[in-house]
Amino acid sequence: MIRRLCVFCGSSTGNRPIYAEAARQMGAAMASQDIELIYGGGRVGLMGAIADEVLARGGRVTGIIPQFLADREVAHTGLTKLVLVHSMHERKAMMAEMSDGFVAMAGGVGTFEEFIEMMTWSLLGLHGKPCAVLNTDNYYDGMLQLFSHASAEGFLADRHKAMVLEDTDPIRLVERLQSYKHTTSPKFSKEEAQELS
Ligand code: AMP
Repeated sequence: MIRRLCVFCGSSTGNRPIYAEAARQMGAAMASQDIELIYGGGRVGLMGAIADEVLARGGRVTGIIPQFLADREVAHTGLTKLVLVHSMHERKAMMAEMSDGFVAMAGGVGTFEEFIEMMTWSLLGLHGKPCAVLNTDNYYDGMLQLFSHASAEGFLADRHKAMVLEDTDPIRLVERLQSYKHTTSPKFSKEEAQELS
């Protein structure tokens, strides 16, 4: 059951309006299911767009932002809760702890890094929460192809590649997150040791 969903996304809006539109649709899908948004606490880019949409629909939003970013006045000041932390690492650990799942919407390297770390923790068995990509207008096809390449070349197990949910539609993506069951054995498990021997 997803009660709190962590969304990583761009601190920019991108060049085309479809990205902000998808962020608003994602916010609407979450608010309609009473899912709280956990995110980086910014007021800019897609981060601001999804937070504003959840709030406008009466939903709850918790932002977790390092002091240095808040000092640059990019923090959203109208959230249900804004948590100030000391570092990017502290922020990510708190987001991971508080959330029942993780979504990457369109974004830049900050978004990629945050999402892939959550995926890494999942395949190491540090959590069993779903990781999903909102693939707006196939924005993430390149990253998904890279995962397939890593898999074909023996650097990412097929079962770990398959753990990543992907959809172009926010409503369907939220439904799939809700029905996710984590059954995949982690990297370096007994099963994997048997496969390797
Ligand atoms: P990017 O995708 O490179 O724009 O980076 C977005 C991600 O990095 C977000 O998910 C945030 O966690 C973090 N981030 C980058 N810029 C900001 C900002 N101005 N305010 C808050 N978080 C930010």
